[in-house]
Amino acid sequence: MAYGTTSRKIALVGIGKIARDQHLPALQASDDWDLAATVSRSGAIEGVEAHDDFDAFLTARPDIEVVSLCLPPQPRFDYAKKALLARRHVMLEKPPGQTLAEVHELERLAAKQGVTLYATWHSRMAAGVAAAKSRLVERVVQSLRITWKEDVRKWHPGQEWVFAPGGMGVFDPGINALSILTEILPEPVHLVSAELEFPENRDTPIAARLEFTGNVGAVFDWRQEGPQTWDIEIETNKGSIALRDGGARIEVDGAEQKLLDHPGEYPSLYARMAQLVANRESEVDLAPMIHVADAMTLGRRITVAPFEFDKETT
Ligand code: NAP
Repeated sequence: MAYGTTSRKIALVGIGKIARDQHLPALQASDDWDLAATVSRSGAIEGVEAHDDFDAFLTARPDIEVVSLCLPPQPRFDYAKKALLARRHVMLEKPPGQTLAEVHELERLAAKQGVTLYATWHSRMAAGVAAAKSRLVERVVQSLRITWKEDVRKWHPGQEWVFAPGGMGVFDPGINALSILTEILPEPVHLVSAELEFPENRDTPIAARLEFTGNVGAVFDWRQEGPQTWDIEIETNKGSIALRDGGARIEVDGAEQKLLDHPGEYPSLYARMAQLVANRESEVDLAPMIHVADAMTLGRRITVAPFEFDKETT
């Protein structure tokens, strides 16, 4: 349902995989938003005004108050800073930056400029997450295990930026699990040890094992072929809860729970952005990214076999 009576103009910046897979359909289905322009060096969407230079776009279209940045983390800060300085409201794909300090600076700038900054965590909007959170309120968590194993060649085909500094490697999907963890746990936990597996030819890890306080642990692996696993399994003083398929499904004591009709992760993000802009509020929670930064600080580095997207060249 639309927030307010008229739709607000928005521009999508970085027309790549996630812009096409999720942002575009969510915007097209929303009464809150009018996709008025795209900005991308090479990508465009049929029927939508296309710009290939962000500075020129900001000058040409002062009437478009909101920009949604679907870029990888490495270029995101420069784009977000320019947008905030031009007094645009800004929505950030996850992770919100390459470093914590970058995002703190964006937060400061948004407050100074009196505009909205929304650091999104799409997995927090998955259908089962709110249900898991509300069930955990009245329970004691005894242990929690995250298993996030997927095939990087399938989900990030040829995306070299994930293995470049700032791309976070396996933490690019792993941070989705951490965004759920930090949303549902009644009490915060912190990292106590980590092992990070770096391919010998890459700058970011392809697998990670994390141990936190509170008997919480996580295994992330990007080399999983065949069935993919995105599970969070929790033992409590009143039985077990499991989130499956990245939070889309919830089981209680092994029994699948029926969930109410759900709009989907990205429609929920855009509904939240509409609300934040209308209220002139920002939402920036760096808790998931702090765990990643801690893993990079505390993690023991293990060198593993080289990785190439094209298996023939590995
Ligand atoms: P992508 O397709 O590799 O890149 C998105 C777009 O960003 C590109 O099409 C490119 O557009 C622009 N871009 C790339 N590098 C750039 C640079 N150095 N400077 C300026 N623009 C650049 O990436 P993606 O998979 O959509 O991921 C983008 C973000 O969404 C990431 O933070 C990722 O974690 C998040 N995300 C991705 C997925 C997924 O399934 N892939 C799911 C959820 C969230 P132009 O070259 O046309 O400018």
